[in-house]
Amino acid sequence: MNVRHSGIGMTSARTRNRMIERLRAQGIRDEVVLAAMNSVPRHLFVDEALATRAYEDVSLPIGYGQTISQPYIVARMIEILRNDKPLNRVLEVGTGRGYQAAVLGQVAREVYSVERIKPLHERAAQCLKEIGARNVRLSHADGGMGLPSIAPFDGIIMAAAATHVPRELLAQMAVGSRMVMPLGTQEQMLTLIERDERGYHQTQMEAVKFVPLLTGMA
Ligand code: SAH
Repeated sequence: MNVRHSGIGMTSARTRNRMIERLRAQGIRDEVVLAAMNSVPRHLFVDEALATRAYEDVSLPIGYGQTISQPYIVARMIEILRNDKPLNRVLEVGTGRGYQAAVLGQVAREVYSVERIKPLHERAAQCLKEIGARNVRLSHADGGMGLPSIAPFDGIIMAAAATHVPRELLAQMAVGSRMVMPLGTQEQMLTLIERDERGYHQTQMEAVKFVPLLTGMA
């Protein structure tokens, strides 16, 4: 039996349950999001040496100077994106190792996720295959451009902080959709952008700390 899949110790279902209880205590209310977080084995998305810490409420290094976001932030962003409604087509900018994409795959019909660092993109593809996430498509590309050939999206999540809202992404939002992104440099704010028939509305949600959105591919 592959030890990474076995239900022992810090990677057990019980550990994941404790994470869900902590998310509830931290104010996550969306049961669909909580169920999705409960079903994705987060320890498979970090290096084996860090697997025992995978369910703590911390971000962890995934190599190349990048991090996997802390569980609370993943849950909060998807809760805001869902707004208690089912999601059809979702874009994630910044796949990293693919954890958030896997959770999104549980709550949306189709997920497209873009990563600029090739080895991370490749590891994420491996992990998502391992857990059988068939509705998640990954691309190695500069996500600041979005995916014009797949747009419009019913939801867009950015996992890296931008200094401004990329115009290309605004154009790829369906009417009635939401985009959730960290905005700012030193001080970052999780920002919600909603598009309706009349235009775009921006709401600041809470202070956050993300790696920066970079341009080009690596
Ligand atoms: N979604 C991940 C978080 C990864 S950290 C999770 O589940 O935890 C953010 C990621 O965004 C990094 O891997 C970084 O390489 C990537 N990134 C930064 N700028 C980008 C860009 N312009 N296009 C695509 N990915 C980008």
